[in-house]
Amino acid sequence: MGIQAHKRHLERLDKKYLWHPFTQMKEWLEEEPIIITEGRGSFLKDICGRWYLDGVSSIWVTVHGHRKKEIDNAIKGQIDKISHSTLLGLTHPLAIELAEKLIKLVNSSFVSRPSSLTKVFYSDNGSTAMEIGIKMAFQYWQHKGIKHKRRFLSIRNAYHGDTIGAVSVGGIDIFHKAFSPLLFKTYRAPSPYCYRCELSEEYPLCKLRCLKAMEEIIKSHHEEIAGLIIEPMVQAAGGMIVSPPGYLKGVRRLCSKYNILMIADEVATGFGRTGRMFACEHEGVMPDMLCISKGITGGYLPLAATITTEEIYNAFLGEFKELKTFFHGHTYTGNPLSCASAIANIELFKKERTLRTLQGKIEILRRGLSKIRELSHVGDVRQKGFMVGIELVKDKKTKMPYSLKEKIGWKVCYRAREKGLLIRPLGNVVVLMPPLSISQDELKMLVQITKEAIKEVTE
Ligand SMILES: *Cc1c(COP(=O)(O)O)cnc(C)c1O
Repeated sequence: MGIQAHKRHLERLDKKYLWHPFTQMKEWLEEEPIIITEGRGSFLKDICGRWYLDGVSSIWVTVHGHRKKEIDNAIKGQIDKISHSTLLGLTHPLAIELAEKLIKLVNSSFVSRPSSLTKVFYSDNGSTAMEIGIKMAFQYWQHKGIKHKRRFLSIRNAYHGDTIGAVSVGGIDIFHKAFSPLLFKTYRAPSPYCYRCELSEEYPLCKLRCLKAMEEIIKSHHEEIAGLIIEPMVQAAGGMIVSPPGYLKGVRRLCSKYNILMIADEVATGFGRTGRMFACEHEGVMPDMLCISKGITGGYLPLAATITTEEIYNAFLGEFKELKTFFHGHTYTGNPLSCASAIANIELFKKERTLRTLQGKIEILRRGLSKIRELSHVGDVRQKGFMVGIELVKDKKTKMPYSLKEKIGWKVCYRAREKGLLIRPLGNVVVLMPPLSISQDELKMLVQITKEAIKEVTE
């Protein structure tokens, strides 16, 4: 079979058998899909042999690039020993080694505090890491005998995953509203979305009024609130919304003051994406629970961890008959191949001084973005490290948004695709999130193509 015939064959089978995530399949059926067969560094190759720049790190996961020798070898080496063994009633060397590495990484990254994070609970994706955080926080207060603390405070525009608990604490209407009858109720604080402030304020004149609004909710309800769930520094799926300076620190202060567990969702921001190993570091904040996934394996395999304190762990200790056990676990929890890739990923950060070289590239990206900011339909450009959101608007002066049906974000991404760049929008927000390993030239190409695509589609 020739390449074209092979491609058409696969396309037919895809359309016959597959249902893609977050995809209107009616549209998918009308389009010609890109079939990826290979990757190398910052690039992906399709079945016809065309290379594309991976501008969103294969949906926010790739760290050191595709086919990174050290990670490839770590997985291959582990395959020759064992590919899966359980953590239910057994243990294995790589889960142990990785847990130690994660605890050391977390505590060396954050400003030291007496209540450091000491225990790792594994799972296999970001949503489950959040479910675990929610259930742990709930049960912690039950075990402590503070039974009325059973609700959660979440933030508008938040995204914590797609399982029912994670959706309950999420705040993106177009994803979450349909399921509202299934969800538990949470208290909602305003989103720190300065470009479209829901309190009609302006930073810094506002003196962080969104925090004051949060405190008002907490003041009235703290006796019922078990935990506060937050994406530190950047609300990612909500549109790459970067919180203003002082906000995260303020949230930590409120949690401590009112005895609420702070659950940090660093599924997207963790592992260098914001320029620091973890986003909480930007404001010297230590959460009570840290949820990580996406970048943990360097973008190779599914793995997640919910990392918590000795205090929370200790509350679950007791005689078996007291039933204080945390009855939660996923079959592939702590999979050895995933752990092998995660260990190799963390070692690469040290060996290649990934975070140090990243700083110069963040600056190059910032300079490139300043030109995109000047385009006539770019309303706001938000950047924290290697997380970027470019918000397109119909009218720059009035900030009038494009309507949903104009699919402006998609049009820009399709145009970029024709020019050899793969990116995926969030509504009217064009997202850039390249692998941390991207070269300076590739970074310039990323910015250049994005700028041309936006210009051609909007002007
Ligand atoms: C992607 C994401 C999740 C969900 O992770 P999955 O692995 O897709 O379940 C949760 N929180 C944040 C902030 C994310 O970006």
